[in-house]
Amino acid sequence: MLYLLKKVRKTHMYSVVGCDRCQTVWIVEMRPKTVKCPRCSKRHNFEKLRKFAEVEDMEIAREVRTRLLSSKIEKSNGEKNLKKGK
Ligand SMILES: [Zn+2]
Repeated sequence: MLYLLKKVRKTHMYSVVGCDRCQTVWIVEMRPKTVKCPRCSKRHNFEKLRKFAEVEDMEIAREVRTRLLSSKIEKSNGEKNLKKGK
């Protein structure tokens, strides 16, 4: 009976999520009940997790993650990134 669900979503779902404790961003596949932060090992309730994007394509999820991470680095290391010509 659970097979009916496959009709609705035949591709995998990827969520780009953020940890509220260590601010890391990572990609979670599908929709687990709980996920563990790869960096600080905090266990999160997936429903309550901060989600930056929910996509069906891993490539897009990776791109979102990369952008989020790079914008964070720019913010925290603003002075080091003078290349941007502020
Ligand atoms: Zn964390």
